[in-house]
Amino acid sequence: MPSKKTYATPLLVTFALVSACAPIPPAGEAPAFTPATAPLERVVEDAASLIQPDNDARRAAVIALVERAGFETRLFEFPNDGRDESDGRPAGHNVLFSIGPQGYGGAVVAGAHFDAAYLRDGTFLDGMVDNAASVVALIRVATALRDAPLNRRIDFVLFDMEEIGLVGSRHYAQSLPAGAVSAMVNLDVNAYGDTVFFGQTDHGHATLYRSVASACATLAATCIDFRRYPSSDHLSFQAAGIPNVSLSVLPRTEVHQLWLLVNAGPDSGLAEGLVPSVFRTIHSPGDKLDRVEPAAITLAYNLTASVLLELAR
Ligand SMILES: [Zn+2]
Repeated sequence: MPSKKTYATPLLVTFALVSACAPIPPAGEAPAFTPATAPLERVVEDAASLIQPDNDARRAAVIALVERAGFETRLFEFPNDGRDESDGRPAGHNVLFSIGPQGYGGAVVAGAHFDAAYLRDGTFLDGMVDNAASVVALIRVATALRDAPLNRRIDFVLFDMEEIGLVGSRHYAQSLPAGAVSAMVNLDVNAYGDTVFFGQTDHGHATLYRSVASACATLAATCIDFRRYPSSDHLSFQAAGIPNVSLSVLPRTEVHQLWLLVNAGPDSGLAEGLVPSVFRTIHSPGDKLDRVEPAAITLAYNLTASVLLELAR
């Protein structure tokens, strides 16, 4: 996610949407996914394993986490034609793994970038909020849905070089044949807080936003839609004409401040120069392990698994 920008009602998701969408499993059949009711275990340790000296070492740690969860990984290599030299590697590598059948219709992509940012002085950040927590949540989602009865394949794609201009997701989205992917769900900034925000919802993917709304209602989670949403890898799929939505978690006050900052422009009523705390944490030395809350990762996990299940069934 980028640093602060300026930028026009949150739609507080109503409960009315619930029963209309949630698939009811046939009598006696175990539900395909049971949301966690307690914080997931060892997620802080998993996030800590991504604290590395550079992004190549971070990718190796990500692969180790995915393989420890029992998945086979494959790499998607692409040239570094990013917007700045802060990450001087000549090429990047997205990490992929999949679940579900080679079903009819396009696969569903679930993505999160694993790379962390460099400061101008060359300091390499721990990148726990941005974006290790999302990577950990996504690997747990894949584990939870591994044996679920899916009609579509779900491709989990952990993007490289998001921090220097969405490079990994751009090359990946551009490489996809038409119709290969039916929808993309992106996770960015899911480390602390109790409130979901999703977007951007002025891209017209109503079915996808409804899937998020029904999952939020089923989970009794507070979810705020953002017509305009900070830039992240979902934009590469938007550019490729693939329906997409990004999911994030922050404390409620920060979500409302961020909504006003990004969507209300001059009418925000925010104090001049107010910077929501998240923008003072990400891309700073403060983006550390002590910001990671298992409850926030669990909320992202429950929501993402529920949405993917609906999209892939
Ligand atoms: Zn990010």
